[in-house]
Amino acid sequence: MSDSSATFSEDGQRCQLALGNNVFVVAKFWHGKMKIHIREYTQERGRWFPMKRGITLTLQRWMELVSNKARIEETMESGGLLKCHLGGNMYAEMDNTYPGLDIRKWYWCGKQNVVKPYKRPGIKLDVDQMKQLLNCFIVMPDFVSELLNVVPCYMQKDHMNQFGYFMCPECNPNGLSVWGPTPV
Ligand SMILES: [Zn+2]
Repeated sequence: MSDSSATFSEDGQRCQLALGNNVFVVAKFWHGKMKIHIREYTQERGRWFPMKRGITLTLQRWMELVSNKARIEETMESGGLLKCHLGGNMYAEMDNTYPGLDIRKWYWCGKQNVVKPYKRPGIKLDVDQMKQLLNCFIVMPDFVSELLNVVPCYMQKDHMNQFGYFMCPECNPNGLSVWGPTPV
């Protein structure tokens, strides 16, 4: 059972926005950097504690997710497929097998020339949680003003030519190249 009086008492925490079912969007410092966590929590003795199920996003990856808001809404309506690369092989995906949004790390499978999802805990949001997440997109800059200074990767100076893009571990984490042979 959820007890609304339970507290989050971590230092440097800016917000904890409930998505429902004990999943929260939490902005706090993590290894010295402001990060946004979408994570399941559990309650013990009046306090919330983070669980394994969840993801941690850099502000840049959060903004990448936010920039896909319209696509997420469209896909919710049409029931179609969606796969957004947030950077560094972190993907947000909607497919036919799960009515919601799945966010997790993927890895490059060289043998098959594709990226594949890790099984280790990411986070799967159901439709209601996803709707709440869309609201978080709007209010998050009120808590994390740093977001206003985040420049999307593709808009950075060194990405104005293809080389910058291909050398970027966020945009091209698997070192793929258009001019070389595709790795097998
Ligand atoms: Zn990049």
